[in-house]
Amino acid sequence: MANKKAATARVSSARPTSGAGRGSSQRPRPSRSVASRNGATRRADEPSPFQVARPVSSFEYCRSLIRDVPDFPTPGIVFKDITPLLASPRALHIVLDGIAERFIGEHIDAIVGIEARGFIFGGALAARLNASFVPVRKPGKLPADVDRVDLVTEYSRDALEMHKKSLQEGARVVVVDDVLATGGTASAAATLVRNQGAYVIGYAFVVELTMLGGRERLLPVRVEACIAYPPA
Ligand code: AMP
Repeated sequence: MANKKAATARVSSARPTSGAGRGSSQRPRPSRSVASRNGATRRADEPSPFQVARPVSSFEYCRSLIRDVPDFPTPGIVFKDITPLLASPRALHIVLDGIAERFIGEHIDAIVGIEARGFIFGGALAARLNASFVPVRKPGKLPADVDRVDLVTEYSRDALEMHKKSLQEGARVVVVDDVLATGGTASAAATLVRNQGAYVIGYAFVVELTMLGGRERLLPVRVEACIAYPPA
């Protein structure tokens, strides 16, 4: 009985033996059938249901979820809106894993996250890297005594604050934000870190706007970013 079944299966996946399969150039060749895992047959040129289509890389998938909003918050600025990316659990995992894997195995005492979107990624990264999370905030938001530094960004003039004694002397810190533009914000956060006697061993961003030269401003400290604009 088992042999009979096997023989039937072989016949169904064999080449046709009719005239069409023997070189008749007039009639269309029937497609070869192949057996799939569940025993059904499909045409050889049909995609296998077990082949997962991966047309774009993971970071390109994330890029497709970053929305350009022209003239926000001021005319001439193209705002990179990451809220569609945040709405995708898959994309959020991709960017968090993409940043975390670059620091895994290194000694990191604290992640310094910059208000507001730097908190989203910074908090999750601190948990992944087993480090403390320290917030850097806009003026007037932190309740206890603060250190303060002034800064100029791509579209604003502002200041940043961090609680005094947030970091231990000699602590190794990664500064995290969503977007690297001119680098003014990250560099101001780094000043707050260094003023407390800690070291910035790296910067991490989801998006880098390469034309604005932020990376050059932050060098020679290492800069990691997942998605660059314009694309390479
Ligand atoms: P910068 O100090 O110029 O590097 O600016 C970085 C900070 O401003 C980050 O906190 C970003 O969230 C924000 N930012 C600057 N430019 C943009 C932009 N084009 N789209 C979204 N956020 C931006």
